[in-house]
Amino acid sequence: MVIYDLSCADGHKFEGWFKQPDDFTDQQESSLLSCPVCGSLNIRKLPTASHIKTGAARESVNTSLEIHNDSSLTEAMQRLRTQIDETFVNVGAQFSEEARKMHYGESDEKQIRGTATTEEIRSLAEEGIDAFPLPDFSVDKNKLN
Ligand SMILES: [Zn+2]
Repeated sequence: MVIYDLSCADGHKFEGWFKQPDDFTDQQESSLLSCPVCGSLNIRKLPTASHIKTGAARESVNTSLEIHNDSSLTEAMQRLRTQIDETFVNVGAQFSEEARKMHYGESDEKQIRGTATTEEIRSLAEEGIDAFPLPDFSVDKNKLN
């Protein structure tokens, strides 16, 4: 069983579960994959998803977004992005490794951000390590209008 983070052309994110990696391509080519939000058949696979791991100062960052319309969504995401850039250390693909080291006391608690696969996040969760998914910041502003 493989789990992929998928996205449609409009940026709706969802998980796809497949028996084997080839099934994604087969289903995509046969137009069997569609977005659960808008029904689009234009589906792409996202290899990784961005996540953050908060340390001791967890309460200092409010990652909730209040969304009223497209323009406030963009503004809220930019504010959150700036806040995360200033507060979190970017560990890139080492995210799950770093999160695990902190959890087991092998390195100091700090606030980190980086990328992890769905399966990495799942195994972290099984070990009791919280990681929070981030919205995709690479949204093309023009597509929101
Ligand atoms: Zn969609």
